[in-house]
Amino acid sequence: MTSILLNGVSYRRPDRPVVVVCIDGGDPTYIEHGLLAGIIPNIARFVAEGFGTLAEGTVPSFTCPNNMSLITGAPPAVHGISGNFYLDVATGEAVVMTGPELLRSRTILAEFADAGARVISITAKDKLRRQLGKDLDLTLGNISFSSEFADRCTLADNGIENVLELVGMPQPSMYSMDLSLFVLEAGLRLLERDRPELMFLSLTDYIQHKHAPGDPVADEFYRRIDAVFGRIADLGATLALTADHGMNDKSRPDGSPNVIFLQDILDREFGIGDTRVICPITDAFVRHHGALGGFVRVWCRGGRATPAAIVGLLAGMPGLAEVLDKETACRRFDLPADREGDVVVIGEHDVVIGAGADDHDLSALSDARLRSHGAITEARVPFILNRPLNGHYRLRAAAGLKSHQIFDFAINGTAP
Ligand SMILES: [Zn+2]
Repeated sequence: MTSILLNGVSYRRPDRPVVVVCIDGGDPTYIEHGLLAGIIPNIARFVAEGFGTLAEGTVPSFTCPNNMSLITGAPPAVHGISGNFYLDVATGEAVVMTGPELLRSRTILAEFADAGARVISITAKDKLRRQLGKDLDLTLGNISFSSEFADRCTLADNGIENVLELVGMPQPSMYSMDLSLFVLEAGLRLLERDRPELMFLSLTDYIQHKHAPGDPVADEFYRRIDAVFGRIADLGATLALTADHGMNDKSRPDGSPNVIFLQDILDREFGIGDTRVICPITDAFVRHHGALGGFVRVWCRGGRATPAAIVGLLAGMPGLAEVLDKETACRRFDLPADREGDVVVIGEHDVVIGAGADDHDLSALSDARLRSHGAITEARVPFILNRPLNGHYRLRAAAGLKSHQIFDFAINGTAP
């Protein structure tokens, strides 16, 4: 095998290990602050000697859509994953979109594995592991596991066992920086041991949800991930760093969450049951964000609300950046129409949009100001390589980058 082809992009077989890291919630401001504060010397070196810019991520700026964009090299219109939930209009039920069966594309990882390359995928949360590992043949030395379930890996399900011993760390807590550090340390050990051709390491955004740039805990996290990045680079790998989305403070001056409860507004205008607001950030980890993000979908379920009536009602409302009908949203953000709401509502940088006030438990958020994502303002992400780009890819980068080009640039763009 000399190359694989996926979604219109040809990827050559790497001549050295390529490690792509998705710093979950890694807003560019953390890197900017870290460079100014001098706490991320390895990233500083990558930017100086390699390549560093900002790229546009997938909107909605959520975890699963962007991770799928990264490993398919394509937008959601191609891979089908546009959030954690969509509404099945036939049944009226919210459908979980994080299972591998709804992913419509092959992955770069699976394509390389089938072509004979050794591939490793490690993620923090297990919900992502299943999608990242889709079609990945684990009988051939390839590996796919999460740090969430590192203590229960099996050769059959993960291609590896005894992970805690290998990494030399205890099983990390879901709500800790160690959950991400475990992913990186495991990647480092496996890079040394197996020298895979391709590795994807996807972290979790718990620290960024709770700690702003410059906060001592955030600084400590970035200091520590930077140190591992330095060791990965020292092993001779091409290292690419990006994020699935950014993160912004979404609280009022008094510290309470700055929420627009959209379902309540629509119920008052059109009647209860006439519309259905789905918050596609919703997952089991309510301590991160209370299911509150900057992007929601509205389905028209009764007879009164039409897309045009909803757009008319909400356009210009303070706190809302965009109110778009389905066709406009799909065209603008490359989204799959069959999983899109009739109306898309996107908040300003400091606003989250909820369903009804009764639908969100804000008590789990009381330990810190609400920081969240989902809007256009959180779709700008770092795009950093430890090696310089060749001339052709420098030209392409100058035209503007999408974060889903990160594998293309890491694999094809750093060749002589
Ligand atoms: Zn995320």
